[in-house]
Amino acid sequence: MLDRRVRVRFAPSPTGPLHIGGARSALFNWLFARKNGGDFVVRVEDTDVERSTLVSEEVILDDLKWLGMAWDEGVLVGGENGPYRQSERLSLYSTYWERLLEEKKAYPCYCTEEELEAERESLRNKGQMPRYLGRCRDLTLEQRQKLENEGKKPTVRFQVPQGEIIPVEDLVRGRVEFESDGIGDFVIVKSDGIPTYNFAVVVDDALMKISHVIRGEEHLSNTPRQIMIYKALGFDMPEFAHISLILGEDRSKMSKRHGATSIQQYREKGYLPHALLNFLSLLGWAPEGEREVFSLSELVQEFSLDRVSKSPAVFNLKKLNWMNSEYIKKEAPEVIAGLALPYLVEAGLLEQDLTDEQNDWLVKVISLLQEQLHFIEEVVSFIQVFFGDKIDAFTPEALEMMKEESSPRVVERFREQILQEENWEVPSIKAIFKGIGKELGVGGKKLFQPVRAGLTGSLEGPDLQNLILLLGRERVAMRLAFTLEALEHNF
Ligand code: GLU
Repeated sequence: MLDRRVRVRFAPSPTGPLHIGGARSALFNWLFARKNGGDFVVRVEDTDVERSTLVSEEVILDDLKWLGMAWDEGVLVGGENGPYRQSERLSLYSTYWERLLEEKKAYPCYCTEEELEAERESLRNKGQMPRYLGRCRDLTLEQRQKLENEGKKPTVRFQVPQGEIIPVEDLVRGRVEFESDGIGDFVIVKSDGIPTYNFAVVVDDALMKISHVIRGEEHLSNTPRQIMIYKALGFDMPEFAHISLILGEDRSKMSKRHGATSIQQYREKGYLPHALLNFLSLLGWAPEGEREVFSLSELVQEFSLDRVSKSPAVFNLKKLNWMNSEYIKKEAPEVIAGLALPYLVEAGLLEQDLTDEQNDWLVKVISLLQEQLHFIEEVVSFIQVFFGDKIDAFTPEALEMMKEESSPRVVERFREQILQEENWEVPSIKAIFKGIGKELGVGGKKLFQPVRAGLTGSLEGPDLQNLILLLGRERVAMRLAFTLEALEHNF
């Protein structure tokens, strides 16, 4: 049993959009907090001043909210362990690194970037791991004073104990050991007084009473450094859980090459937030049994770190599309129509303010198309069939069908009768087909396909009677006239 209150955090660096991997880390933390009745904290790690932007922070936080991962404590919402932006915590950090300096667990380093690079290069040439060999470790006070008088601004380096094995007891990966000798004294405060990630993260996680650090595998190699800092400062250590990388289908690290990598891009295409969350939850976590579609509360119920795998997760876009289409199917057509409207307006097909009648029409059209949608943006191409008075192009299969001996007559008779039909309803349309079938002695494909081809130029599409209904009398008339004319001229 857990003996501390569960407190987890998502700590994005605002240097770009929220990526799939970051969102997955946030989700595992969020699920773990919800499952254990704990707290989910969001902290912004903006010590990389050059690359951090407020815009990126806003985008990340907005995406988290959109995905439905509300946080209990952190930026925007506040809490008793704030501030939650590292750039606002600089004085807090200095208390701790000054203590390390006093206790001789850290020291100022005056080496220039050129000197450091030369050292790394020489180690590399000898086939050794490039690292800092401790040139400034044993400088005397006078030597330091002299360098400072020359105007040199030092960094602060953590003094790594020699000859130690540093074990990381990882909840996902088990025990992973690191040799301290391979690490080299590392910088904890840059020469501008801003702490590095490895230092700030420890102070923050400790002061914010984080019980479990759940993050991407790329941070595993940082963990021994952080563990040394925890020990040096006498802080309680959290549990660590490093979740595996996300790979593309070719098994290389997921990148732009594999498709969209940011949550924004999926959002723009019209993926539903809960479908994305459901999909992300399966990247590295395996629920019991075969089931894959889970509501949010079911995910919370089912989630456990025990079932998080240490082998890499593979991002499969087809699976995401399938998952999203499952969620789209479950929604009411009114909801999907509302989500689709901005795309249709953007494509110039509809106006933003629909009349009640137009809205009813759209909802009916959507209920015909909904089953086929993988993401909402696709509605723009699927709905084209309902717009336009002419046929842009006939598919080869449609042309083939139109050349059947009975086809022109079927289309002609259908046009005559449908235009006279007073009840613009599915049963009446069905009755017309039935009558023509009897009259001309055709049935099945030969009866329905010519009309479909004549109306749309294709043999595929939504349910025919409903399509006719929603096209409306005028469009049906114009399109069939157009096709009959084309037929006469052999297309
Ligand atoms: N700011 C780090 C990142 O965005 C967070 C690492 C951590 O969770 O410790 O990768």
